[in-house]
Amino acid sequence: MERDCIFCRIIAGEIPSKKIFEDQTTLAILDINPISEGHSLVIPKKHIAYLEEADETTLGHMTGIAGKIARNMIRNRFADGTNLFLASHESADQTVFHIHLHVIPRRKGDNMGIGDWWREKSGGLEEVKIPEILKMLS
Ligand code: AMP
Ligand code: ZN
Repeated sequence: MERDCIFCRIIAGEIPSKKIFEDQTTLAILDINPISEGHSLVIPKKHIAYLEEADETTLGHMTGIAGKIARNMIRNRFADGTNLFLASHESADQTVFHIHLHVIPRRKGDNMGIGDWWREKSGGLEEVKIPEILKMLS
């Protein structure tokens, strides 16, 4: 528990939240400032600041719960689809330094612009750099 971490304080019950799901290791809540209705956060109870500090079990469980929330969204016709998002480090737009997986409900015609932004930004793979990139990542 980190005293000045907002998610640790929510987990400790010091700050209220809108709870979707909870088990021994993980909490899922509604985002206080949703990008779409039902925008949810899956948060490990242990304070882990960055993605690379989380073990496989923690990440697997977070993803499993995100899947459960997504399944409920689809089954209940609350959403037509979902995006998952996790920001790790300031350079990646992380603002709360206790990892959390965003589950973002998507609806047909919601014009969120993620697909357009992605297509606009993507491309430019440089063949000569691929061996070096593979070495760095594996
Ligand atoms: P990120 O930028 O990925 O670190 O996301 C942090 C998210 O936490 C944002 O979407 C905030 O709206 C959300 N957030 C911040 N404070 C709270 C809170 N007290 N309860 C629920 N969500 C919060
Ligand atoms: Zn924390």
